[in-house]
Amino acid sequence: MDRQAKAVVCREWGKPVQVETITVEGPKRGEITIKIAACGVCHSDLSATTGKIQYPPPLVLGHEAAGVVVEVGEGVTEFKEGDHVVSSFISMCGKCRQCVRGRPVLCENARKAMFTLPDGTVRTKDANGEPLNVFGACGVMAEYATMHVDNCVKVDQSVPMQNAALVGCAVMTGVGAVFNTAKLEPGSRAAVFGIGGVGLNAIQGCATAGAEMIVAVDSNPKKLEMAREFGATHTVDINEVEDAAKAVKKLTGGVDYAFECVGAGPVVEQAYKSLGRGGTAVVVGVADPKDKTSITTLTLPADEKTLKGSWLGSARPQHDFPRILGLYKAGKLKLDELITRTYPIEDAAQAFDDMVAGKNARGVIVFE
Ligand code: NAD
Ligand code: ZN
Repeated sequence: MDRQAKAVVCREWGKPVQVETITVEGPKRGEITIKIAACGVCHSDLSATTGKIQYPPPLVLGHEAAGVVVEVGEGVTEFKEGDHVVSSFISMCGKCRQCVRGRPVLCENARKAMFTLPDGTVRTKDANGEPLNVFGACGVMAEYATMHVDNCVKVDQSVPMQNAALVGCAVMTGVGAVFNTAKLEPGSRAAVFGIGGVGLNAIQGCATAGAEMIVAVDSNPKKLEMAREFGATHTVDINEVEDAAKAVKKLTGGVDYAFECVGAGPVVEQAYKSLGRGGTAVVVGVADPKDKTSITTLTLPADEKTLKGSWLGSARPQHDFPRILGLYKAGKLKLDELITRTYPIEDAAQAFDDMVAGKNARGVIVFE
């Protein structure tokens, strides 16, 4: 059935987000409709409103949500009404070479579903009946969303929805970059550049994985304070040093792993430069498509350095989301402390402004 839903929409790049009442159609074959309970505000949502991430407007934002299944489409056996689910913004066909080798974030068919559902169409339309694209096959910054089952992960009902929501992006991305992409060894030295929702999770991932030293690098003293609460052993305020990479090297002798959680060529360069011999720099931040970085080529062979990327923490969502929630339930990952502030959907624009101002670990939109 069709449902009316308040939704956060980007109408034009460079303009503030707006809240509209949209129509969300019921599920087609292989899809389910979710009543959203909470949706985190990620820097990637902001990047989609500036055109840094080039999803064409009009676009329903949101890719980090949890909610309850309210309607199940034909042929769906994995979900029933009442199940709690977390959204996953990677589309995976399950059949291509990457999917079958266990790397669904690299699915060769995923690019077909960057801003639509996997079949190339959408279930969302505005008050004039015009179709609305959806961020990452999700579009979950809305009271309801209809998604393909492969973009939904069933989760434990005992976890509060606000906490579960964050596993859909910030937690999976940050913790997964450490666990899955870097496979950080206990006793390693690490640095995290950019202490937003993603960077904080890279820090707690490093702490949980047994890093010996964890250096947090940011320009915002409040973020560096949060970093300490999440396990950072040292902090570098980039406004207080001439060269952040040199400052990290001075503290650690050169790190084994550096995580770039900003999305800018110069920061990638710093992360790479902060490595010791044999170190690995993992780029998590999403840069503008034209952005470039530079590294000294000789250091790749001579120091056996590695520069690699990480998409949604190299997740296998159906396996990793429950695994991360299990670590939270066991007291090994902090999720409650990530939520600095919640907002009703009417205050969505404020939530974006607060993220830009660096006020929140994560701001979360909560629905009635
Ligand atoms: P955020 O806005 O919450 O945090 C960004 C942080 O970076 C802020 O604390 C800011 O002060 C800091 N910063 C800015 N410039 C800096 C610099 N030069 N040096 C050090 N710190 C600096 O953002 P977020 O939601 O944590 O997202 C971070 C990045 O990760 C974004 O680029 C986002 O698009 C990307 N992201 C990637 C994935 C993925 O799958 N790879 C998933 C989610 C988000
Ligand atoms: Zn995100």
